[in-house]
Order: sequence, then structure tokens, then C-alpha cells
Amino acid sequence: MTTFSRWALVAVVVAAAVLAGLGWISLRQWERSAESAFREQARDMATMAAEKFEMVLRGAPEPVIARLRAAAATGDPRAVESALAEPAVREALESSLGGGGAPTILALLDPQSRPVYARESLGAAQRVAAARLREGLPDWQIGLYQQPGAAPHVTVRRQVMLFSAALGILLVVIVAGSVTTYRLTRRESEVARLKADFVANVSHDLKTPLSVIRMFGETLEMGRVPDQATREEYYRVITRESERLSRLIDNVLDFSRIEGGRRTYERAPTPVEPLVRESLEPFAYPLAQGGFKVEVDVAADLPDVMIDAAAVAQALSNLVDNAIKYAGERKTVRVSAAVVGDRLMLAVADEGIGIAPAEHGRIFEKFYRVGRSDTQGRRGSGVGLALVRHVTEAHGGRVTVESTPGMGSRFTLVLPVR
Ligand code: ADP
Repeated sequence: MTTFSRWALVAVVVAAAVLAGLGWISLRQWERSAESAFREQARDMATMAAEKFEMVLRGAPEPVIARLRAAAATGDPRAVESALAEPAVREALESSLGGGGAPTILALLDPQSRPVYARESLGAAQRVAAARLREGLPDWQIGLYQQPGAAPHVTVRRQVMLFSAALGILLVVIVAGSVTTYRLTRRESEVARLKADFVANVSHDLKTPLSVIRMFGETLEMGRVPDQATREEYYRVITRESERLSRLIDNVLDFSRIEGGRRTYERAPTPVEPLVRESLEPFAYPLAQGGFKVEVDVAADLPDVMIDAAAVAQALSNLVDNAIKYAGERKTVRVSAAVVGDRLMLAVADEGIGIAPAEHGRIFEKFYRVGRSDTQGRRGSGVGLALVRHVTEAHGGRVTVESTPGMGSRFTLVLPVR
């Protein structure tokens, strides 16, 4: 699935890039053809204007045209200007060079290609086409000028920019969408994998105490245990293992209640010291058997706190269970309770294998278990800390973790006293 999404993302990006490339090429072509069509049109307009000018000028007396030619030959602008002021010339100019209309302007050019007459000021306009006059004033031309910024390639370029921006936004949306989808599917498949692990882990967790209970039960049933002390030891094992089973099943059931939004909490004033003692009680045997050093430090005179005692005890049990499970060489469990301000701090610390800082955020996620190699061989379902977090948050509190790999971990439930 992930490979598929990765390829889909690549395909989308490649397709978008090809589309962008093709769009750019076709826009360049459009720009070029618009430019050449415009130039052709401009040439036609200049030619038409030249023909009309010549036609009107034909009616003017010959000396007028001769004067104009002579004035041009002197190169004196004032002479040209006064020659142009001749009514016959002026009429020819006005009738043929008018109506160019913005953004193009028609102008008469002298033999040096200098504009000597135009209906409007040329300003910064640029010449885009010119048509030579044939009769009367050879070497003179009619030029077509265009205002800057009005060229078709400028308009096209503006459109190209608009198109590129739209395409860019589209691309960003497509890529963002693909990345989000890719992330979502990756996350989904990870959850699916974790769920499969969860089922396997829980089944394994259920099986082990059950086989112990069965084995000891059968041995007892067959009357194979002659002495009373061993029998009592077997009963204790059975009780302990069934307690462990109940804890595990409670965890899974509560977890499913939380997932279904059906978990409720009933708060009542609760004394802290008995709560801590009762949470530790089921672990007395495994702690003693594992050779653990247990330190319990409950501050004196703690006020009663408004909590769901069973839920908080369960959270505390999960933390103690983890402290035992993930112990290293130094087998220590420290449980402490203190009130700081208006908060009750319930902490469980160990000197076990610890957790890498990068994992601190993730261990509270459902089904999540740190790098399989570390946790391998240690039983667990991956929902214990998710439950702890849910319980504390439901109480308006939070759970924190301080941990260094190889040094140990300390989990603290921070709960409001009221
Ligand atoms: P699990 O059932 O696997 O113990 P939890 O939700 O209780 O699930 O814990 C999630 C993961 O956090 C564990 O798999 C383990 O990797 C890590 N972890 C929890 N508590 C400790 C601890 N005290 N020391 C080291 N690692 C811990």
C-alpha cells in the first residue's frame, strides 16, 4: 500500500510537471503567433494609411509637394513644419492618419525616418511597422506606433503569468492532497499492523497465566502434592495468576470502553495512602520474587482527593506493572505521592531499560510498543499507557514521563486535588 501511494504521488507530480511543461510550450507558441499576427496587421494598417495619404495628396498642387520635399532636404525641422502646415497637406494628413485609435498611432516619417507629424503625441510609443510612400514623396514613410505595455506579447505574458499562478496553486493543492492521503494511508496501515500485534500479544498474555493455573490446578486435583506448604504455595500461584488475568482483561475491556466512548468515571473523595497501598498489593509477590527493592513514599497528611479510585488505582497498577516488566539489572521500584499546590503528584519510578526521548510522545498511543527488540520477550498489549493517559486526562490532569535509556524511567500522574 505504501509503495503504491509513493508511486501514485510520483505519478501525480510527473503528470503535473508534464502538464506545466506543455502549458508553457503552448503559451510560448500562442505568444509568438499573437505577435506575428499583430505585426502583419500593423503592416497592413500602415500600407492602407500610406495609400490613402497618397490618394489625397494627389489632389494637392505640385508646388506644395515640392516645398515639402525641399524642406525635408534642408533638414530644418521648422521648414518641414511650415510645409506641413499647408492646408492641402494638412487635410491629407488628417484624413489619412486619423483614426489609428489607441493603442496605435499613425505618423508621417521623413526620409531620415523621423516622425514629423502625428495626430497624438508619440511619447514613449514604439514603431512597430512602416510603409513607404511611392509617389510624390518617395523615401517618406507612414509609421505605425504603439504605446508601451500594449504589445500583444505583453498581454499574452500577463495571461501566461496568470495561467502559471493558477497551475502552481493547482500543483500545490494536488501535491498537498497526495501527501496527506499518503500519510493517512501510511498511518492507517500502521494502525492495522499494530492492531494485529495487539491481538497476538493479548492472546499470548491470556494464554500464559491460564496454562499456569491449569497446570497447578491439575496437579492439585490429582492429589500429587503431599505436603500442605507446597499446596498453599500452589494456591497462591493460582490466585496471583488469576489476578493477573483479571487485570489484563480489565485493561482490554476498559480500553474498548474508551474506544467506544462508553468509559465513565465516578469521582469521590479518596484518601491517597490506602489507594497507593492497594495498588501495590497485587504486586507484592512478583516484586519479592524478582528481588525488587521497593520504596513507597507517601507524604503525611495528604488531603483526600476527588478521583475515581478504581480508575486511578488501575492506572497506577499499569505503571507499576511496567516498572517491573521493563526493569534492567537494578531492580528498584519507587512509588511516591505528594501534593504540590493544588495538584496531586503520583509517581512511579524505576531504574530499568528506559525509553529514548524520541519515543516519549508515542508510548501513550494505543497499541504502540517501543522498538520490538527492546520489548521482545516482555509481555504486553500496548494499551496500558493509553489507558493511563485517558484516566488522567478524564480527571483534568496529565501524565508525564522522564526517562533515559539505560538509566530508568519516571512516570508521574498529575491530578487536580479538587
Ligand atoms: P505494554 O503493554 O507494551 O507495556 P504500555 O502502553 O504499557 O504497553 O507501554 C507502551 C510501551 O512503552 C512499552 O511497550 C514499552 O516499550 C514502553 N514503556 C512503558 N513503561 C516503561 C518503563 N517503565 N520502562 C521502559 N519502557 C517502558
